[in-house]
Amino acid sequence: MPEFVPASRVTRIKSSPSVAAAARVRELKAEGRRILDLTVGEPDFDTPQHIKDAATAAIGRGETKYTSVTGTPELQKAVLQTLQRKTGLQYTPAEITIGGGGKQVIFTAFMATLDQGDEVVIPAPYWVSYPDMVLANEGTPVIVSCGEDTGFKLTPEALAGALTERTRWVILNTPSNPTGAVYSREELAGLAAVLKDHPAVYVLTDEIYDEIHFGEERIAGMVAVAPELKDRVLVTNGVSKAYAMTGWRLGYAGGPAPLVAAINKLQSQMSSCPSSISQAAAAAALTGDQGFVRESVDVYRERRNAAVAGLNAVKGLQCATPDGAFYAYVNCAGVIGKTTPDGRQITNDEDFTLYLLEAASVAVIQGSAYGLSPYFRISYATGLPVIEESVAAIEKAVTALA
Ligand code: PMP
Repeated sequence: MPEFVPASRVTRIKSSPSVAAAARVRELKAEGRRILDLTVGEPDFDTPQHIKDAATAAIGRGETKYTSVTGTPELQKAVLQTLQRKTGLQYTPAEITIGGGGKQVIFTAFMATLDQGDEVVIPAPYWVSYPDMVLANEGTPVIVSCGEDTGFKLTPEALAGALTERTRWVILNTPSNPTGAVYSREELAGLAAVLKDHPAVYVLTDEIYDEIHFGEERIAGMVAVAPELKDRVLVTNGVSKAYAMTGWRLGYAGGPAPLVAAINKLQSQMSSCPSSISQAAAAAALTGDQGFVRESVDVYRERRNAAVAGLNAVKGLQCATPDGAFYAYVNCAGVIGKTTPDGRQITNDEDFTLYLLEAASVAVIQGSAYGLSPYFRISYATGLPVIEESVAAIEKAVTALA
């Protein structure tokens, strides 16, 4: 048999490092090791009961068939209302799309718009999937490093410096995975001012964590701040994070009708539509009681405060306080160059995360996966006892370094 050769789009990309980290943790657990897992990118809560009930009721009513590519009338209405609530702007049915998770919506958006050599500006640290999604769709990721000095955020100057004739998209992710950084209205207005001079550039604002934020005001996205850009902004979101529904696979987006039509055309040939049952559940999530969201944010806030305070007390580590999502991005420059008790030198953040796994049984993800080193990402979508135990174990492991 001749050797299997995948398409070049497969060899161009790598598997998701967070999925790989989760697999490694599962492997170690299967070997009987107790691992304190801070890699998880999903809420540890169960999906609220009223959402599950809506799904069961949909099954009972026989809503188990294909739906329109753009979703059931109930979900469409819920998405339109939700977009209006979030952006303050009116969207029409022709301006929304739904898919099997925010991830699929973003992938399809790139597939619908990128030709070979088209550039996508990606601020780093970035969600691990963006560069590979761009590469898989023939595009060229243009990574712009955004350090701690700007709160891990893209500045107008950095944006202006990254735009070229070939720029098709700029990605903004607020609140951010992996840093938890949130763009203020002023910061978004500064970026919008640059974009005004580049009318061909589209903006993908990934707002999947927008309900998980720790400030008083609700998070403002790009279209709310600069409605004049609405005809070239794709707002992507989903029910995974806010409603603890990662397994239901349901995401949505609002954007200009021609772009949305292109996305829906591809979707009609790829999946036809997301699961009808998940659509019923998502409609209930978006239109039902929002108490779960508020309660879970209070829990995340408590965990964030414990994690940040604990990690900042460890000599050699420094952790900025994230404003949203359930991640913190920890600076580990202070441990690089040190030596482990068994004589190995820690030369980068990957060495350090491997050391934490071996010496402290704590699983975290190295900053190099997100495009900015030396850092590591922790997720605090896990119980307070695990966070406290992890921080203590990290402190012990760091103290043992020479
Ligand atoms: N964007 C970001 C920044 C994410 O972290 C994730 C999930 N890890 C997604 C999008 C996609 O989420 P889903 O496909 O579950 O909607």
